[in-house]
Amino acid sequence: MKAAREILELVAENVGEGVIVMATSGHITALNATAAQCFKRSNRNPRALSVDRMIEEVESGRGWPEIRQDILSGAEYEAMVHFRFSLETEEYCLCRGVRVMDRDGEPASIVLIFRNVSEEHAITTELEQKNLDMARMNSELIRSNAELKRVSELKSSFLSIASHELKTPLTSIKGYSEIIIENMKGKMSASVFRMVDSIARAADRLHRVINNMLDVTRIEQKRLRLNPEELDLAALAHDCIEELSQFSTKRGIRFHCDFAEGIPLFYGDRMRMQQVFTNLLSNALKYSPDKSDVQVRIFAEDDERFHVVVKDAGIGIDKEEQRRIFDPFYEIGHAFRHSTDFAKFMGGGTGLGLSIVKGVVERHGGRIWVNSPGMDEQAFPGSEFHMVLPMRSKIQWDDNETRIISVSALEAEHGMVREEASPPIGTSEKRPKVLIVDDDREAAEICRMVLGSAFD
Ligand code: ADP
Repeated sequence: MKAAREILELVAENVGEGVIVMATSGHITALNATAAQCFKRSNRNPRALSVDRMIEEVESGRGWPEIRQDILSGAEYEAMVHFRFSLETEEYCLCRGVRVMDRDGEPASIVLIFRNVSEEHAITTELEQKNLDMARMNSELIRSNAELKRVSELKSSFLSIASHELKTPLTSIKGYSEIIIENMKGKMSASVFRMVDSIARAADRLHRVINNMLDVTRIEQKRLRLNPEELDLAALAHDCIEELSQFSTKRGIRFHCDFAEGIPLFYGDRMRMQQVFTNLLSNALKYSPDKSDVQVRIFAEDDERFHVVVKDAGIGIDKEEQRRIFDPFYEIGHAFRHSTDFAKFMGGGTGLGLSIVKGVVERHGGRIWVNSPGMDEQAFPGSEFHMVLPMRSKIQWDDNETRIISVSALEAEHGMVREEASPPIGTSEKRPKVLIVDDDREAAEICRMVLGSAFD
């Protein structure tokens, strides 16, 4: 019997859990080493204590009288409790309680078995807090994402509306100044001519900016429509180089073309692809010093893809900027970065060109990127723009953006019969009539003035 009791004591001493034996009142009568250790750290003598004010259930806040009642009633008791081993600290303990009966079948004492889970609890609480923080950050992110999307849509529609609204009065400024230049050339003094000429050129520049803004909104709103046809990329590049020759010759910049022979035709929008080449080539001119070389290569990468390279010997583009230059309105630094002690450049622009280029290339199912060692390594490290375009396009085309409706097509469509063919312009005494329809009176008036000499 004694041996069994000793074994029991030995077990109680060595289990990792704390064991406290107490009178039914809660007065502590015995405890194992683990429990003693908990009190020791707080310098309290447990045998002089009662658990009366030491224990409180975490969830319900119930104290010892209720807990004691539960245990004495014989119910299985298990709960997470705050255990105050010292006056200052509160440990989290997972606590089980059993009653011990005497020979008469009356409850004699209560045994509490507990495991200190404060550390696990702290970690769990911290994790829960982190989870909560993350959930909050996530919902903030979703909210700001939605807000960004809304602002971006607002910006696109603002750009679109503003550009359309600007375009109408600009048509008058551009149209009238061109008419004045055309009709009054010899009749104006040199200074008046210079003024009107600079109005016309300023209107031209503004017109280009507005068109670029409209293109950017078309791309952002996925409304960029294409009029595809079979194109000879080399011939297209040649035409663009030719058009820029007045600038390149003035600055002594030479274009070197290396166009592979016998490559297939590309199916794409002529006007848009011209825009792509002109942007890349004029940037190469803009950001290169005088008397440098620009190389243009076109070749078939494989059976599926064309590859176009525009390589300049200019100021280069830092690695971290290389993605961002394709964003709308993004320009690297200011004008001073575009000139060095050695050379002056044609200066910056609006930061729209490359975003349009990217939009057009991607709309054709292609890809564009830039390689450059960066700006700081040497004065003119140069940039290499690469463009890959598909040979057999799989994308859907919208070829009805600008539909020129011919009179004969209309006649055929509506079953109309023309009484008599109009005589060729200028050969008849009776001049043909033209009906001009435009919701802008000024634009209609300009049309009337331009066409007035040949039509009625
Ligand atoms: P921008 O009208 O300002 O030239 P782009 O969208 O065409 O606008 O180009 C965006 C920016 O990328 C430019 O402001 C310029 O800083 C940089 N960039 C473009 N092309 C080159 C190039 N060939 N060499 C160096 N920098 C370039």
